[in-house]
Parts: sequence; structure tokens; C-alpha cells
Amino acid sequence: MERTLSIIKPDGVSRGLIGDVIKRFETNDIKIIALKMVHLTQADAEKFYAVHKQRPFFTSLTEFMTSGPIVPMILEGENVIEKNRTLMGATNFKEAAEGTIRRDFATDIEKNIVHGSDATETAAEEISFFFNQFEMNER
Ligand code: GDP
Repeated sequence: MERTLSIIKPDGVSRGLIGDVIKRFETNDIKIIALKMVHLTQADAEKFYAVHKQRPFFTSLTEFMTSGPIVPMILEGENVIEKNRTLMGATNFKEAAEGTIRRDFATDIEKNIVHGSDATETAAEEISFFFNQFEMNER
């Protein structure tokens, strides 16, 4: 069993898509282990996306991610890191495969509804960015 971090971004929350996104996970054998709604500060968002600090879209991305509440979730399942990335679709919704979350709901390369960790190490780091040991439901 593997775990990953998913985030429903501010556009997904404000457009009332929390249920639709969760449904995609639950109908694809992915278990939701932990979930909450938080509103990041600018400093939080800059820390979370530190890897993109040099990118031209860094300011815009961090401002977008602080523009409203988000829903981080820990997902669990077999091969869930890759499985979640497949369900999300390509970063640019115009290039995302049919039936993916981003293809169906995204409106913009930046406002693309969901985040998903891309590897084992980043999944562990991103999970502990949002959740403490009592929230991980490990008992
Ligand atoms: P992801 O792993 O598919 O989310 O993609 P990346 O890690 O490459 O980028 C992180 C996030 O930055 C994306 O999900 C988008 O919200 C945003 N982003 C990526 N590329 C661009 C871009 O070219 N322009 C803008 N404005 N935002 C981007």
C-alpha cells in the first residue's frame, strides 16, 4: 500500500467540485485516509511550492493557492502516486486525457483543480506538510 497527498485547489473548492473530485478517488479503489480544509498564508504557499521558486509563474501560483480554502487529503491505495497522477491528467488541461479531472474541470494551466505528489519522497514530505501524526489515522 502506498500513500500520496492530493489537494483540491481553491478553484475546485470555490466551484463546488469537492464531491466530484472525491468521487473519482472513491470509485477508483483509492481510500481517503485524512482530509481537512485549510487556507494557506503566502508564506505557507511559498514553502510548499519552493521547488518552483525560479519559475516565472511562482508568484501567480502562490497567490492563486492562497486565494481561498483548499482541501488537502491523504490518499491510500496500490500504486496510488501514479494512479492519482493518471486520474488528475496533464498539468495543462488542454493536453489532459479524456475523462481526467483536469480535462473535465480545469479552466486554465494554473487553475487546474488538483495537486498530486509526483514521487515517494515528495509524497512523504507533502503529507507531513499538512498532517501531523494524530491525523494520519495509522492506528
Ligand atoms: P503538476 O505536478 O501537474 O501540478 O505540475 P507542476 O509541478 O509542473 O506545476 C505546479 C503547478 O503550477 C501546476 O499544477 C499549475 O497550477 C501551475 N503551473 C504549471 N505550469 C504553469 C504555467 O506554465 N503557468 C502558470 N500560470 N501556472 C503553471
